[in-house]
Amino acid sequence: MEKKDWMRVWKQFSVAEIKQSLIIIGDLTADCYACKEVGLQYDSIRNCPNCGANFRFVSSRQAAGNAPTRYRDVQRITSRRPDLIFIDYDDFKKLTGKSQAYELLGGDSPES
Ligand SMILES: [Zn+2]
Repeated sequence: MEKKDWMRVWKQFSVAEIKQSLIIIGDLTADCYACKEVGLQYDSIRNCPNCGANFRFVSSRQAAGNAPTRYRDVQRITSRRPDLIFIDYDDFKKLTGKSQAYELLGGDSPES
């Protein structure tokens, strides 16, 4: 098979939509972003057992920042769950931090 390398691709998404369908992978298990349910097995799970969220996006705390292991983590996760869209944890945190700040100010995000 042809050798492939990782590169990040930019695409526009609705943060509100991601918030409702995101599973975040931690050290051993994963959590549902929408309801913060913990201890999920990300290998096979399709819906959150607590809130019923239909997982379409995945992110990983281990793959955040410039951790040298991040390519290995992304590889492991995407090979197990090719059906999910992998989003960058830092990008997501940055956006949710910004939308929270706008919500606190009682206004809408200028991007929405
Ligand atoms: Zn949930």
